[in-house]
Amino acid sequence: MREIVASAPGKVNLHLGVGEARADGYHDLVSVFHAVDRREVVRLRIDGDPVAGPAVETMRTTFFVDRPDEDIDGPGNLAWRAVEAVVARAGVAVPRVRIEVDKHVFVAGGMAGGSADAAAALVAANALVAEYGEPLSPQVLYELAASLGADVPFSLMGGTALGTGRGDELVEMLSRGRLHWVFINPKIGINTGKAFSLLDDLRHGNPALLPHLDSAQLSQALTSGDVGRIAAALHNDLEEPALTLRPVLKRVLAAAGDAGRRAIVSGSGPTVAVLCDSADATRFAAEHVAEQFDAYEVFVAEGPDHGAVVERVS
Ligand code: ATP
Repeated sequence: MREIVASAPGKVNLHLGVGEARADGYHDLVSVFHAVDRREVVRLRIDGDPVAGPAVETMRTTFFVDRPDEDIDGPGNLAWRAVEAVVARAGVAVPRVRIEVDKHVFVAGGMAGGSADAAAALVAANALVAEYGEPLSPQVLYELAASLGADVPFSLMGGTALGTGRGDELVEMLSRGRLHWVFINPKIGINTGKAFSLLDDLRHGNPALLPHLDSAQLSQALTSGDVGRIAAALHNDLEEPALTLRPVLKRVLAAAGDAGRRAIVSGSGPTVAVLCDSADATRFAAEHVAEQFDAYEVFVAEGPDHGAVVERVS
């Protein structure tokens, strides 16, 4: 039995500007992604000789966060689809694999955990293909990532990046220093599509909800490395629909904001991300939040962190 182990980071959006809905149903985004060192781990376990046809035999996720009600271990899982996509595109016969995922990022939390699984699976599968033929180029890997989901290219890339289009046209951003975060999962699922369509509805009657497509203030704050300026520049257009769908989030944001510098909803939510001054401050904030909301899951993480990498081949 051999194995290839890869990992990829979770993310928080430091800025999420949502434009008008497009004809294809997507919204144009201006998103500043920030990868954090809370990483998903994907292992490909390999046994036997190369065979033609589907590469994945089975998969199993081990949860280091709350297990969702749904069973996510099947051919629809992004990690599974990523492995099949790489092997099919490379046109190389490989031995059948079993996928094992260690899930450290909240499921359906707005931190791109599934996208991280896909990105880690892409680089792991490419390492497998390389043993039996020609691996895919970084460009082709990126194309496959974008076809799997709008957040997957960033999970491959990591760091801090500006994403435009569906969020998948990426440019690396300059930033100074480390950012220290507490992440809180209030366990009140928010459907991403619902959050976007509610934003469209809310905008009809409320000019204050105009798209925030300018991330210049955040960009300058990131280059300065000043946590106070970065905290002031954080913005998420999806926060209003998230608060409308789940009013309890207002209380969580207020309490979490008091515990750190500033609290925001991560992506489409419901995860709340709290920016703090230091690693020590995150521990204090995490305890404070855990005391007030003892049913919620809480962890601390730092960013920026690197993108998807192969950790080990054995
Ligand atoms: P994003 O921030 O990109 O919106 P998310 O973190 O909110 O993503 P995910 O954890 O990626 O959400 O999962 C959303 C849904 O996708 C799950 O409820 C599940 O049905 C499906 N899914 C497919 N593959 C995975 C995976 N590898 N891990 C978790 N969920 C997956």
